[in-house]
Amino acid sequence: MDKRLKRILPKVQKPSRYTGGEYNQIIKDKDSVDLRVAFCFPDTYEIGMSNLGMSILYQTMNSLDFVWCERAFAPWGDMYEEMKKEDIPLYALESGDELKKFDVLAFSIGYEMAYTTVLDMLDMSGIPLRSEDRKDLLPIVFAGGSACVNAEPMTPFIDIFLIGEGEEMDNDVLRLLRRAKQEGWSKDRFLEEAAKIQGVYVPSLYDVEYNEDGTVRSYTPRSGVPARVLKRIVEDLDASPYPVNPIVPSTEVVHDRVSLELFRGCVRGCRFCQAGYIYRPIRSKKPDTLIRQGIEAIQNTGHEEISLLSLSTSDYRPLSGLCDGLLEYCESRSVGLALPSLRADNFSVEIMEKIQKVRKSGLTFAVEGGSQRLRDAINKNVTEEDVLNTCALAFSGGWNTVKLYYMLGLPTETDEDIVGIAEMSEKILHCWRVNAKNKNRGVRITVSTSCFIPKPHSPFQWEAQISQEEYLRRVNLLRSSIKAKNVVYNWHDAETSVIEAALSRGDRRMADVIEEVFHNGGRLDAWTDYFRYDRWNRAFEKCGLDRDFYASRERQVTEILPWDVIDVGVRKSLLIREKERAYRSELSPDCRKSCSACGAAALLKGAKCDE
Ligand code: SF4
Repeated sequence: MDKRLKRILPKVQKPSRYTGGEYNQIIKDKDSVDLRVAFCFPDTYEIGMSNLGMSILYQTMNSLDFVWCERAFAPWGDMYEEMKKEDIPLYALESGDELKKFDVLAFSIGYEMAYTTVLDMLDMSGIPLRSEDRKDLLPIVFAGGSACVNAEPMTPFIDIFLIGEGEEMDNDVLRLLRRAKQEGWSKDRFLEEAAKIQGVYVPSLYDVEYNEDGTVRSYTPRSGVPARVLKRIVEDLDASPYPVNPIVPSTEVVHDRVSLELFRGCVRGCRFCQAGYIYRPIRSKKPDTLIRQGIEAIQNTGHEEISLLSLSTSDYRPLSGLCDGLLEYCESRSVGLALPSLRADNFSVEIMEKIQKVRKSGLTFAVEGGSQRLRDAINKNVTEEDVLNTCALAFSGGWNTVKLYYMLGLPTETDEDIVGIAEMSEKILHCWRVNAKNKNRGVRITVSTSCFIPKPHSPFQWEAQISQEEYLRRVNLLRSSIKAKNVVYNWHDAETSVIEAALSRGDRRMADVIEEVFHNGGRLDAWTDYFRYDRWNRAFEKCGLDRDFYASRERQVTEILPWDVIDVGVRKSLLIREKERAYRSELSPDCRKSCSACGAAALLKGAKCDE
């Protein structure tokens, strides 16, 4: 270990997040590989090490014998200051080598507020921020992850975007890069060849023009590249590699457990939910596969919990059998099962009792809208009756804490809908009084609201976000409407949501704002400790960009959108139809009831979505 590190580690919080050496990390001989990949997560160790996508791709890239993939995370503020003082560049955890020595820096970007940290990690590595300033083939900078479905704000900084699922795609690109390195290709030649791989977006090969009013006029692809980049998926999740020996973090991380991914995509089609559209088509894993992988991962890590992950786990049809299969092994070893997301319309006490055999936890429901009209407008397909029946079941089953998530600022929302949230809480409180198994323990009902953010590739991608002032007016209306003392109300600040909304629907000119914020100390903007609203607003001003043009402007459905160059497999016509139905508060059936022909099944080359 660098002796300077030995000097500073005792001075910083959680030093073990900077040392590597964890159980199950992959070590290779750097002289026996052709490519060294620094897998960069633009946030802290605790967040990155809890990211299932990172864990899967770390394994798949290292499954190539000519590649050594190592991890790098953004240091927390105290370590950042010490590294700056000691002039220590950013390094990879496995080898301790500085990232400048690597062939590839591959960023996993799942959140727009991580953009400044990407620039920070490049800068801490001594690598020029902009692609045009990196003339040589190596090091080359990749990026993937859900935020890249609108890659435009980050295009000047990233050489190649990997759109969709990386298990196979990343390795295709690494095989090509190995050949390019061995045959001494120029960077441009490599980029042209890489653009021929499905899912690879090379932004430098597309010219963008804007109209007077600031909207996009056209995207012109250079010859030989596709007009739109179709995302890449893994068709057969049962056959796809899964990390049964994930790294065991040496310090507490956000999700300190085994994560089992039950399926990708979602059958529901909630109109505010980007994930529900960009992860289509729906593909499930078989219970046998999951039970085998879960048990192996517990044996190889010693973790005490398995999380059953998906966008809507209670929609996984064989959930009960899966729980039985896992509990057969887990219960006697005090290994718990956890369900991250629950829907109020298919809650089952039977499942909950199984889940809670080892560890009892509270219940969380995402209700989203405060009235039936609004829930229909957003296609949530949850009724007030569903919520109250579920609470009655839970209270009579001995639960006494319920968390309810809502969004404020959804399209068509009225004050009546907001007051409806308070009324629902009152009804839940009454439901507790009637059904509670044990009233002595009291009840805790937590209502939490966040500010709705319109996202690309969703039916609400054309919507205006409400202003910060309007969000706070609605928060205060709800605060004054909630009377009962057993009901606790928490609300997210709107400042981050406004900036996230602008970044989410930004175009290439947004890059100047991101770089300006970085140069003024912006990093780790996903944390309130570091996020500075004024710094962002000053940057918009300095760069001559109108923040609200991006965040709170309604778009016409005929407008060319910055992310139209990316094809996530879902037809725009379906998104427009769903938007129109929202304004008529009309429901759409979920995929199990009838396929809406969204277009995503075409990515399965003939197979059907498994609902
Ligand atoms: S193709 Fe049909 S079943 Fe599949 S995700 Fe789209 S709407 Fe749902």
